[in-house]
Amino acid sequence: MAAKGQLFILSAPSGAGKTTLLKKVMAQVVGLAFSVSHTTRSPRSGEKDGVDYHFVSMEEFRTMCDQGLFLEWAEVHGNFYGTSRPAVVKQLEQGQDIILDIDVQGAAIIWKDPTIEAVSVFIAPPSLQELEKRLRGRGTETNETIELRLNNAAREMEAASDYEYLVINDSLEEAAATLQAVIIAQRCRGHRLPTGESIDLRNDT
Ligand code: ADP
Ligand code: 5GP
Repeated sequence: MAAKGQLFILSAPSGAGKTTLLKKVMAQVVGLAFSVSHTTRSPRSGEKDGVDYHFVSMEEFRTMCDQGLFLEWAEVHGNFYGTSRPAVVKQLEQGQDIILDIDVQGAAIIWKDPTIEAVSVFIAPPSLQELEKRLRGRGTETNETIELRLNNAAREMEAASDYEYLVINDSLEEAAATLQAVIIAQRCRGHRLPTGESIDLRNDT
């Protein structure tokens, strides 16, 4: 993929605060687009189709899979989620930096793809107790789904060391500032000159 924009992968156990953090950072950092995933999960109250997710039926999801339209997809907490390949490729080619909010399985698929370069960030909660408190406090899940998401959290936390950056979301303000710093630092790396080249500051036009 001849990409001009940079791809950022963000993963976290459910309830760690990834969506909250992302909204905060995206309001501060210009030129950053959120990749809207497709999911078979039902919308939560307040979620908008085409904004938070593209909410699709299992049949529509399967058809997209069969047509090879997903850059990656995975079953997460009993629902299916996938990233649209054409949407991501188009935005990257337009020079847009993109954030993928995907789970640890999706990240592993992208890392295996030699055509894609991505910077990965894992968002961790300060503790499992706090994770449970946040998941329950959000009030969007049934007890059964909370148990499922908490059980999966332990496995997801094991993948944290595979990521290039780790951000602990204890204080929201501090975590947002850290995530913002990571994105900005990576953008500077993206603009590094090839070895041997230097910047010519003379104004000879
Ligand atoms: P995720 O997207 O990772 O599943 P959310 O962003 O939905 O998580 O956050 C889960 C809950 O935790 C929400 O109610 C949110 O307001 C709250 N939350 C997020 N970050 C923090 C934080 N740093 N401190 C306390 N509560 C937080
Ligand atoms: P939620 O249902 O709480 O919105 O998301 C549940 C999990 O699915 C989160 O870990 C989130 O990162 C992940 N997820 C969201 N979109 C995608 C996607 O396109 N691909 C994959 N693999 N995971 C996703």
